[in-house]
Amino acid sequence: MKVITTAAEMQQLLLAIKPKRIGFVPTMGCLHQGHLTLIEKSTKYDDVTVCSIFVNPSQFNNPEDFQKYPVTLEADRALLEQYSCDYLFLPDVNEIYPPGYQPVLFDIGKLDTIWEGEHRPGHFQGVCNVMNRLLEIIPADDLWMGQKDLQQCLVIQKLMNSTGRKNVFFHRVDTIRENSGLAMSSRNTRLRKEALAAAAALYDALQLIRRQYRFVPFSQLLAKAHEQLLQHGFEKVEYIAIARENDLAAMNEYVAEEKYAAIAAAWIEGVRLIDNIIL
Ligand code: AMP
Repeated sequence: MKVITTAAEMQQLLLAIKPKRIGFVPTMGCLHQGHLTLIEKSTKYDDVTVCSIFVNPSQFNNPEDFQKYPVTLEADRALLEQYSCDYLFLPDVNEIYPPGYQPVLFDIGKLDTIWEGEHRPGHFQGVCNVMNRLLEIIPADDLWMGQKDLQQCLVIQKLMNSTGRKNVFFHRVDTIRENSGLAMSSRNTRLRKEALAAAAALYDALQLIRRQYRFVPFSQLLAKAHEQLLQHGFEKVEYIAIARENDLAAMNEYVAEEKYAAIAAAWIEGVRLIDNIIL
């Protein structure tokens, strides 16, 4: 695996290997099986796989969260080698945002201000700016991202459309979970053993919704799921909701034709976790 740290070199290298099919897996590092599944899919499907590791400051609305974001670079490199990734793009912040860089305001509609957008103001604009820059540097044919961040997937699909990248194929990959059901996440490394076990309640709450949403009024069911999270050690629930799968509009009652997702964000032991399932 080649490790590239400058945008110019990365871009030149990849333009030179076109028309080979390029798969791209953007990450913030501290890699786990969720990330590695994306790499695995890309290496099977594409001629060349590029993984980026860049902890993007502009998508952190909370400076403490950015400071505490886990970095495990040596382990990440070894894992990427093991999974036959071809290129690791490891830029520093000046490569992504050169001096004088002016953030772009992207029109991503309501997704900017609901759920994650509401609770993390500016987050998705940060995500769009970094993805737009990464895709300027990496001429990807396939973009591999996780359903774990469902709203992010929808945001990026909008970004691709609005920036004329309709020929980049977007692959949304199922969430990889621990045996307990807890969605794998780099932030899980910040939890102690007991909290890690308790955090599986997030998935259990989503499963409760899956079992009952056809029969129980949404408001009653969501209140029950909320309560269940608090009982199992979560200190705060930012949201737990039923939303339309394709745009995450909040839904208040069951309509058979709609496709729904159950989505949640909650805090345990000072760590903010998110998860979702398609119903
Ligand atoms: P991150 O490093 O958190 O920015 O994640 C990089 C990519 O990995 C994003 O597309 C995430 O949605 C995806 N990802 C993170 N956790 C998981 C998981 N448990 N299962 C599948 N994909 C994941």
